[in-house]
Amino acid sequence: MQGLPLNATIHAEQFAMVIALQAGEGIISFAATAAPCGHCRQFLNELREGGDVRVLSLMVDKFDKTKFDSLLSDLLLHSFGPLDLDQAVEVPLLLEPRNNFIRLHSLELVTVYSGHRKNTDRSWKMTASAVNRPLDKALEEANAAYAPYSGSPAGLALCTSAAKIFTGRSIESAAYNPSMSPLHTALAAHVQSCAGLQCDLWSNISGVVMVEIHQAQVQYAGTVETMLYSLAPDAELIIVYGTTAGCVDGAF
Ligand SMILES: [Zn+2]
Repeated sequence: MQGLPLNATIHAEQFAMVIALQAGEGIISFAATAAPCGHCRQFLNELREGGDVRVLSLMVDKFDKTKFDSLLSDLLLHSFGPLDLDQAVEVPLLLEPRNNFIRLHSLELVTVYSGHRKNTDRSWKMTASAVNRPLDKALEEANAAYAPYSGSPAGLALCTSAAKIFTGRSIESAAYNPSMSPLHTALAAHVQSCAGLQCDLWSNISGVVMVEIHQAQVQYAGTVETMLYSLAPDAELIIVYGTTAGCVDGAF
């Protein structure tokens, strides 16, 4: 993503994971034109029995094409994963249903950014009724977000000038750094919707509504605001804060 640091990149395997998550699918195998990088091997290890995921890849040189068919456990020896961080076995892992039991504070507790400026009067351009739908979707995503390590789930709804909404949720990794912000996962959904089409991806982003936990250990507001300003400088960002009961349930 132009103008942003390399660690803002979404890797292909992460992209595929987000699409599977949004489709409510599990993952049993991956096929790619090259072997997954170390970052992605670690990210895939967030799945339950992740070591059993089959990884198909192709190595092409000027003489030959070589196919590789491996298990993730072969590619990630002596792996480190969720259960190494004292996760209870019954706690839902990535791609498993969960509910973070988030309740919103009143809409008095919001932060609004427009054009890289924090609006001190917390006013926003979108009408209250226009905010309601993305806010509901952002809360839904925050409740389904995968944040077992920080207990700081976040969800986001990205609105376009064509009145479409793309949603995303935070996804954490036991190795912390491969984690994805809710804006990353919403951008992946937005890109997927334009697959194969001539699409000006970022300029049609008109607004973003994010739900995160007030004064949480991990917060996304600063990162999301910086990224959004770089991608869509005129977009408005509304952050609404919630609280969580601190328990996680695997069933909705
Ligand atoms: Zn990668």
